[in-house]
Amino acid sequence: MCGIIGILGNDDVFKDLYQGLLSIQHRGQDSAGVITYDGHFHTKKGNGLVRDIFTADNFKRLKGNIGIGHTRYPTIGGRSGSVAQPFFVNSPFGIIMAHNGNVINYTELNKLLINQHHRHLTSDNDVEIILNIFAQELSIQNIDKIEPDNIFRAVEKVFEQVKGSYSVVAYIAGGGMVAFRDPYGIKPLVYGTKKDGILPSYAIASESVSLNITNFSNIKNVGAGQVIFIDEKRQLHTSQLTHCPHSPCLFEWVYFARPDSYIDNVNVYDCRVNLGRFLAEEIKKLNLDIDVVVPVPDSARDAAIEIARQLNLKYREALVKNRYIGRTFIMPTDHERKSSVRHKLNPIPSELKGKNVLLVDDSIVRGNTSRAIIKMVRECGAKKVYFASYSPPLRYPCVYGIDMQTKAEFIARNATIDKITKKLGADKVIYQSLESLKKAVQTGNKEITHFCGACFDGQYPTGDVTAEVLKTIERDRETDQKNQLELEI
Ligand code: SF4
Repeated sequence: MCGIIGILGNDDVFKDLYQGLLSIQHRGQDSAGVITYDGHFHTKKGNGLVRDIFTADNFKRLKGNIGIGHTRYPTIGGRSGSVAQPFFVNSPFGIIMAHNGNVINYTELNKLLINQHHRHLTSDNDVEIILNIFAQELSIQNIDKIEPDNIFRAVEKVFEQVKGSYSVVAYIAGGGMVAFRDPYGIKPLVYGTKKDGILPSYAIASESVSLNITNFSNIKNVGAGQVIFIDEKRQLHTSQLTHCPHSPCLFEWVYFARPDSYIDNVNVYDCRVNLGRFLAEEIKKLNLDIDVVVPVPDSARDAAIEIARQLNLKYREALVKNRYIGRTFIMPTDHERKSSVRHKLNPIPSELKGKNVLLVDDSIVRGNTSRAIIKMVRECGAKKVYFASYSPPLRYPCVYGIDMQTKAEFIARNATIDKITKKLGADKVIYQSLESLKKAVQTGNKEITHFCGACFDGQYPTGDVTAEVLKTIERDRETDQKNQLELEI
């Protein structure tokens, strides 16, 4: 999971890129970067949070009315500054690109680029694969001036060759801005306009919130398999290049996206309230004796309030989060995750002592965080601790850009609810059903008929996830984790 933003504006765009990146900081806290263009490219990349990477000096130096920004969560590859996006190729024209997603056939395409096109990558970041295939296709067209058809043909080539999920924004020097979403539209991508000059400004971003806060309106989705191209005269050209079933990532609504964002026209907050409503129906059937509903902050709050409302129960924020600590789920190693839980959450014992507590969280991945929270609540004197997850059991690795660890580490992998309950030390564990999760999204947009829910049911929408692909991705993740632990020790 990463966040991307691209702006083609009338004035210097760095300020808006910076604000836009801050608004999608939750999508990745590992590294960030910006490249702007004013006839020359100006670059700043670094490891860490957006606010720490960019200084006052960058506001002066990153000149230009065009730019692309990226905030990165590592998928495959290391965590050095060399893999921070956006990336750049000099030829043809000079192209910058950033993406959100994961290229499944990275190794095969890397070999192809080297052996057939003599193109060598500068890092192991998979956006370089997309960038070089796109650039290579434009290059063989041998053109002096970019026309929409040149772009559409180059993106068609990317769609033909690159397997996996990718939402992409790119800028071609003197040509225009390009954005596209993979044929299944797994990762979100929106664009909008602003009338702040004779020509309209355009912005493209992972989440609508980035466009809201930078005053872009008329927000639309880039569709699955669709490409948009905004030329130098600010004319918008679009083309629908493929017709695969649009299958957006269900986890965007569960956890990744901000509640004030709209993903494929479904408001994330509304969806989480619906998830609370549907889960409350399941909890009601169990006839549990519950005194208080407590969310695991922050993402579970919206669903937990709705559960309490539906069940007519007391709602208490009895776990207080230190908001200056990053999201544990997206911390790259288990070592970092485990040590941060105790620092991140502190209970209010008076709200828990002697009570039957229903804890609500967005998901249970490995179970380490949930187990630590349940233990903490018991130590405060809770009589019973029930644990409700408003997403279904996670059982399969994500190959589309979310580091959910290896399948052996999922607590729900080959485990019954009773076994999970025992492992977590809870009195009862309740999960949302996959059908209810889909229903919660479809309540906001009935036109979405397909989803990626592969981490729940193992059905990978791109259909090319072989046992070999899974093995390679798991091996890469294990190596990354091992390297990271060695660095920490
Ligand atoms: S496997 Fe899960 S996290 Fe990955 S894209 Fe699909 S729904 Fe999203």
